[in-house]
Amino acid sequence: MTDEIIIHGGTVVDGSGAAGIRADVAVRDGRIVAVGTDMANSSARVIEADGRIVAPGFIDIKTHSDWTLPLMPQCESKVRQGVTTEVIGHCGFSCAPALPGKAEALAEYLGPSAPWLTFVETNYADYAANFPATSANRVMLVGHNTLRLMTMGMEDRAPEPAELDHMKALLEDALAAGAFGMSSGLFTAPGSYSEGEELVELGAVLKRHDALYFTHLRDESNRVYEAVDEATEFGERTGVHVQIVHIKLSGMDNWGGADKLITQLRDARARGVKIDCDQYPYVAASNPLKNLMPSWLQEGGVDAMLDRLGQRDVRDRIRAEIDDRGLNNFGRIPDWDAIRISISPNQPPGYAGRTMGDIARERGADPFETVLDYIVEDRGQSRVLVSSISEDDVRAFVRDGDVMVGSDGNSVAPYGTTGQGKPHPRFYGTFARILGQYVRDENLLPIERAIWKMTGAPARALGITDRGQIKPGMAADITIFDPDTIAEKATYQDPHQYAVGVDHVLINGQPVIVNGEHTGALPGEMLRRR
Ligand SMILES: [Zn+2]
Repeated sequence: MTDEIIIHGGTVVDGSGAAGIRADVAVRDGRIVAVGTDMANSSARVIEADGRIVAPGFIDIKTHSDWTLPLMPQCESKVRQGVTTEVIGHCGFSCAPALPGKAEALAEYLGPSAPWLTFVETNYADYAANFPATSANRVMLVGHNTLRLMTMGMEDRAPEPAELDHMKALLEDALAAGAFGMSSGLFTAPGSYSEGEELVELGAVLKRHDALYFTHLRDESNRVYEAVDEATEFGERTGVHVQIVHIKLSGMDNWGGADKLITQLRDARARGVKIDCDQYPYVAASNPLKNLMPSWLQEGGVDAMLDRLGQRDVRDRIRAEIDDRGLNNFGRIPDWDAIRISISPNQPPGYAGRTMGDIARERGADPFETVLDYIVEDRGQSRVLVSSISEDDVRAFVRDGDVMVGSDGNSVAPYGTTGQGKPHPRFYGTFARILGQYVRDENLLPIERAIWKMTGAPARALGITDRGQIKPGMAADITIFDPDTIAEKATYQDPHQYAVGVDHVLINGQPVIVNGEHTGALPGEMLRRR
């Protein structure tokens, strides 16, 4: 006898954008086998879904959970929002490959983002094969910054032909091992050092494998439109699908530009460019503190950076650049209270949650000098939240029917290692915030369209044909939630709180959330390209 589950009496919103219908859903052997009315099977397990929405499991197209899944394989903060698939390895950062003798360099590089992770030498195939069992499915990417770091360290120059060939070979390895594509982080060194043909040449490798490109734009503030043009041109020249991740307009001088960006992307699509984007619905961004400084500061690595910060003329030059155009990539912020410490591994834990303005006032010091001092004190390892986005722009992207939802967050939990510090509330709240605050409370868009932005749309962008919809034959990734109560609980001050309102989550047909509680099941699979 096979285990059959019948989800009874809910409103099925199937992920295509179509209106919800009252129907039962039958699941067997990890697949959806039927959608209809009055299903009966006396041996089946029945999940009562009266008054609930039955939706495809949410695909979190933009995460950094590769930094936490080895420590939090239950994906607690995500599955409790209804997420059933996470895309990992974004923004140019992947934890593999770590070539012989270079694991320590990668550990130092990713330290501010993945302070608890152990880095060992590994090629991409072994990394993928040895990845721990997880609750949610995963789609894996390889990061351009990691490939560059492995090939030419933190050097600010174009690759020699042999170096470019080396990066291409590493990319081939990752794609052969099942990576869906390559991510870039063009605002962060050493990705920011790449210009000209380097990315297009790597794009040709992606094209040959029918793989995808995901980009953290070179600039999200004062030159964001030019950065979108760069991404569009990449798509035009390579023919590869481009996903612009965590789209935003950072910095006060750029607020109000969401509609212009949406139009820019629409025009590119009209010309035949395959390009999409996603957002997280918050006004604060998150990044290592050092990345808010001009990118030349990091050339040569952490020791070189700390050395430079000891020189008066370097500090004056940084101040002049920030006075002139605002923070690197984040633009002009209202004041130093817009920067809040998220986690500082080399500082007393009491600093987490405090703003740089607050710390400067306590020290009776100049806030700009305090920021630089803080980078030195924590050896460049601090991660911060930066309130640099306008709520009006956030709402414009939420309202748009095609901007997908990606948390840009890690799977974490209030307990254990990942329960430390004050992470961005998006780790816990992204999907519930859209469905609760923006759909139910503010009525910014229909729930069917919001669910499409979390399911059918990302599945299409990723080329995944058997997930992202409720219909027979699809993998049984299903989220059942109460549209009247779904809500985010996490806040900036108190982020470690699960979303509420998600009652049941099935992943590959296995119950992972039952009546709001995690079952401990780890049915997630590594998904493969078509
Ligand atoms: Zn990013």
